[in-house]
Amino acid sequence: MTPTTPPPSQPTLAPTELEHAHPADIVRWAADQFGVEHLVLTASFEDAVLVHVAATAVPGIEVVLLDTQYLFAETKWFAEELRRRLDLNLRIEHPTPDIVPDNLWQTDTEGCCNVRKVLPLQRALAGKAAWITGVRRADGPTRSNTPVASFDVGRGLTKVNPLATFSDDDVELYQQLYDLPKNPLSERGYPSIGCWPCTRPVAPGEDKRAGRWSGSNKTECGLHV
Ligand code: SF4
Repeated sequence: MTPTTPPPSQPTLAPTELEHAHPADIVRWAADQFGVEHLVLTASFEDAVLVHVAATAVPGIEVVLLDTQYLFAETKWFAEELRRRLDLNLRIEHPTPDIVPDNLWQTDTEGCCNVRKVLPLQRALAGKAAWITGVRRADGPTRSNTPVASFDVGRGLTKVNPLATFSDDDVELYQQLYDLPKNPLSERGYPSIGCWPCTRPVAPGEDKRAGRWSGSNKTECGLHV
């Protein structure tokens, strides 16, 4: 099955119930509705919350990290640390073999994100009925209307955002509650973490995503549009 063919039996979503549900219950709901083999979760490993929620709610759920060839060393270390600690079913999705490190990010960020993020995501989603992400409304203005679950017409599957309603305080509290480790960069001024060429630390009071593609009009890599 390709991402554009209809996934198996799409459920009737109950947005009002999901809106107030705990993230773990939302992940369980998705597993009940679609079957764990038809779920895929993508994680940027900016923090541990999403993978902890998902792996404890539905052990064995597939977790995908898109390795763009430009991830921070800290992010790679953190993903491996969480794989070990949480026994994650972690899959690393790479660009195709013809894509090698180059300077495309300096001249064409859309093209660079396309071959390193958008197309690998397409492969990760192939054959799946639902895609779980860590997008939150509190990430910033461009994400303030993020639904907990919706049908992604372009990709032909249901997109589930279990943390959509989580505030920054909720994230912090969850990390403390479960004594979760943090990506070392988060302590060094990086509240949003992507590829190293396109991410800078932010100053106090700056928007959390201000350090992503700083100095350009780009605000999203193309995964969550
Ligand atoms: S975030 Fe930057 S380096 Fe990463 S894929 Fe996009 S343009 Fe390339």
